[in-house]
Amino acid sequence: MHVKASKPGYLRNLLPDSAPNQPDSFQHVLDDIQAKILPGVTHWQSPNYFAYYPSNSSVAGFLGEMLSAGLNIVGFSWITSPAATELEMIVLDWLAKMLKLPEDFLSAGQGGGVIQGTASEAVLVVLLAARDKALRRVGKGALEKLVVYASDQTHSALQKACQIAGIHPENCRLLKANSSTNYALSPELLSETISQDLAIGLIPFFLCATVGTTSSTAVDPLLALGKFAKSNEMWFHVDAAYAGSACICPEFRHYIDGVEEADSFNMNAHKWFLTNFDCSALWVKDRSALVQALSTNPEFLKNKASQANMVVDYKDWQIPLGRRFRSLKLWMVLRLYGLENLQCYIRSHIKLAKHFEDLVAQDTRFEVVTPRIFSLVCFRLLPPSNGEYHGNKLNHELLDAVNSTGNVFISHTVLSGKYILRFAVGAPLTEEKHVNAAWKVLQDKATALLGESLR
Ligand code: PLP
Repeated sequence: MHVKASKPGYLRNLLPDSAPNQPDSFQHVLDDIQAKILPGVTHWQSPNYFAYYPSNSSVAGFLGEMLSAGLNIVGFSWITSPAATELEMIVLDWLAKMLKLPEDFLSAGQGGGVIQGTASEAVLVVLLAARDKALRRVGKGALEKLVVYASDQTHSALQKACQIAGIHPENCRLLKANSSTNYALSPELLSETISQDLAIGLIPFFLCATVGTTSSTAVDPLLALGKFAKSNEMWFHVDAAYAGSACICPEFRHYIDGVEEADSFNMNAHKWFLTNFDCSALWVKDRSALVQALSTNPEFLKNKASQANMVVDYKDWQIPLGRRFRSLKLWMVLRLYGLENLQCYIRSHIKLAKHFEDLVAQDTRFEVVTPRIFSLVCFRLLPPSNGEYHGNKLNHELLDAVNSTGNVFISHTVLSGKYILRFAVGAPLTEEKHVNAAWKVLQDKATALLGESLR
């Protein structure tokens, strides 16, 4: 099934202004889904979907999601459904072991894992924990002095978290990363900036590194950054929302070397790990920091197990009170695939991305812009040498031309002022023939744009 575009507001004209007074027939509803809803759906599971990052579905993930929908528990405290809390702790310990995370992240000690809805919620909760921990140390009145650091390639979720956490906008340092470091954060630049901030009385308290940035899969140097964070008493968060999945393979695990320095680590199982949206795995070394920032204890939720401190109550590790039974689907994915199949899955996509990278490299009209690390290829059509057609406009037009076919869906980014096309392999059904077909569409559209005759 191919992705399809539709015009803004298309649905309003197709549906009535208000809900029916009397029940409709199920068949009627299904007919409307077919005729009115599906034409406006972008098919993220299509094998021809190469945009943004993937959002995997699988039979195992889907079944887990269905079971969870059927049971429909609301597991905010252990007592509200003991299996939900306990399975979540166990499954995140399993996944932590698959990623070879340090033992401090396991639930047996002071740390543990929790499933958040998204990576954005994950960075928000750890930022709140870090903020309150810093304020306990330096005094409540120091909020306006607290400074957050990350590269300018960090996902905008961090900026949003800062806005919510009351971090002053001018204290959110998004340090420039460029092609000299393949868009990774430079520890030297970080060190210089922190020294300048300390000199004027500011308080560095949070550093966010990314493994697999959203634009180009850049990998920040965790070990150097983490040591730096530690020596400055900063919370060190690692966002591996997309690329974390690859680190279950021994040959890619080195990309998170240095995670032992981190206070928190996040990976989206709903991206590239066959687990239906939403399922964002977050681990912390010190769960009490989260609980101190986020717990409440109203009378109507009091119970023996919680009062006796015998259990984890995940309501104190997240923003909302209510929470779904999300661990079921992750547990089913881990059990029904097993580590070896999951590793093969990741490897097959990385191999396909390499194949695409080779195809691009063989066509001299194109260039691969940043070295491919995982399953994303960043590339662009080179502007003709007469410079008549500006490269950014050309690639923007190429993106539109390719996506308007409705047969392939890719997305873009901007790196150092250059408009770049992103080809992210990661949909579960994608095979080499889909990659080849997408490349043919790209080549044909490029040929048409450049005014060449079709080859
Ligand atoms: N961090 C990175 C590196 C990402 O690539 C993304 C999304 O693509 C996010 C965070 C935000 O993810 P979420 O939608 O789970 O908040």
